[in-house]
Amino acid sequence: MANQEDQFKKVVSHAKEYGFVFQSSEIYDGLSAVYDYAQNGVELKKNIRDYWWRSMVQMNENIVGLDAAILMHPTTWKASGHVDAFNDPLIDNKDSKKRYRADVLIEEHVAKLEAKVEKEVEKAAKRFGDSFDKEQFLTTNPRVLEYNQKGAAILHRMAKSLEKEDLADVKALIEELEIVCPISGSKNWTEVKQFNLMFGTKLGASAENAMDLYLRPETAQGIFVNFSNVQKSGRMKIPFGIAQTGKAFRNEIVARQFIFRMREFEQMEMQFFVRPGTQKEWYESWKKTRLNWHLSLGMGAENYRFHDHEKLAHYADAAADIEFKFPFGFKELEGIHSRTDFDLKSHEKFSGKKLNYFDPEINEHYVPFVVETSIGLDRMFLAVFSNSLVEEELENGTTRTVLKLPAVLAPTKAAVLPLVKKDGLPEIAKEIVDELKWDFNVVYDEKDAVGRRYRRQDAVGTPLCITVDHETLVDKSVTIRFRDSMEQQRVKIEDLRSIIAKEVDIRNWLLKL
Ligand code: ATP
Repeated sequence: MANQEDQFKKVVSHAKEYGFVFQSSEIYDGLSAVYDYAQNGVELKKNIRDYWWRSMVQMNENIVGLDAAILMHPTTWKASGHVDAFNDPLIDNKDSKKRYRADVLIEEHVAKLEAKVEKEVEKAAKRFGDSFDKEQFLTTNPRVLEYNQKGAAILHRMAKSLEKEDLADVKALIEELEIVCPISGSKNWTEVKQFNLMFGTKLGASAENAMDLYLRPETAQGIFVNFSNVQKSGRMKIPFGIAQTGKAFRNEIVARQFIFRMREFEQMEMQFFVRPGTQKEWYESWKKTRLNWHLSLGMGAENYRFHDHEKLAHYADAAADIEFKFPFGFKELEGIHSRTDFDLKSHEKFSGKKLNYFDPEINEHYVPFVVETSIGLDRMFLAVFSNSLVEEELENGTTRTVLKLPAVLAPTKAAVLPLVKKDGLPEIAKEIVDELKWDFNVVYDEKDAVGRRYRRQDAVGTPLCITVDHETLVDKSVTIRFRDSMEQQRVKIEDLRSIIAKEVDIRNWLLKL
């Protein structure tokens, strides 16, 4: 645990020190759970967004983009159910005065049981050596079975109580499990209350006529209300999708995990409209597609897992999360939801406008069903960033800090470094920068010894360093150094463009899908 915490602290401080993420309004002591992306962060974030957008919109003939406004007619949120049901159950500890999400406290208790199972597995693996059969152990060991059954029963009871809005039972469960406040260590809890997560604001100049609005808590509704506009103007045929990236706002009860849970964040969502009755197939298919998208980045298959929802949102008939192994454990990174025809039907009812589709293949009108994929851009940023940050022991006994970002996402693709600041080397290096910058984000750096400069680029994840030396003057060759292997090769200046492209070209990465 201490190790995990240390690792997470390193992630946060590295993000700040190297110009990726700063606390918002830091000079005024910051605003809780709101963050700014700095010079390197903004590039990494843009590259993640592009990687998603290209794989969704550019690579799929039947998916188109949209950029709907953040402010929407307030009835939208009545129709979507957010005014009545977008709540989290909160509970306060009377001694520490700290506020928690009641469901998260219970889930963390279950996570502890899961950790115990993992310990048992580790112990048994050691004991049995090569003959260890994990599957068999998990299904037969009495202690493991007991932990798993306990965990499942707790989650099941919580899901049922939340569904029935039986908040007294959620509190009873917290008491029965003897969950203590991590700060005060006490079990002195208040009642559980529902808390609506939407931020309100006002439109209009005079107080009497102002209209109450909400900052959107998800981008999806902008897609639903534009369904007919896009379908008709784009002559889209079902099945088809509408993709959108943009800001969403939630007044989160607890926001202590850096950019994992923010009050202002960015979502990348795609709503896929399908013929009723086919939603199950599409749901399964999008689960696979989205996992493959993650795997294409090469961050390790063992770091992902699916978690099927037991408690379904009011609009869903099936839902799963893709969880990622963050420095603080497996947590939701993306959601895939089969949203039925709930949203479109509800908007039809509240707006009085038809939102149906004529399917020429079966000669029928219907309201389409929807399968949604929804990922937090900032959460994806944290996944990539935390997974990439490593400290490496080198053969000479020193260590280096290196951000092994997937090259396609790296803020800077190459750094061009004159070995010394004289003899015409800076001029050649600048010429190389001027040539490469048409295609790639490149930087020029002449300060300090070249070894220090390599380390600086390692720390911000630049996949390639190009060094200009005295030989360059003679034969127009340079040294190219690869971030991860630290291998160096002598190459011709004229080949640089194709060498960099091979590493960073989005095509080579998306081909792995
Ligand atoms: P959680 O259970 O973590 O609160 P959620 O189930 O409410 O998340 P969704 O409504 O499914 O999340 O939103 C889709 C995605 O948006 C999530 O998978 C996550 O990546 C991202 N997301 C949601 N809330 C936040 C937040 N407060 N900060 C950053 N990203 C978020």
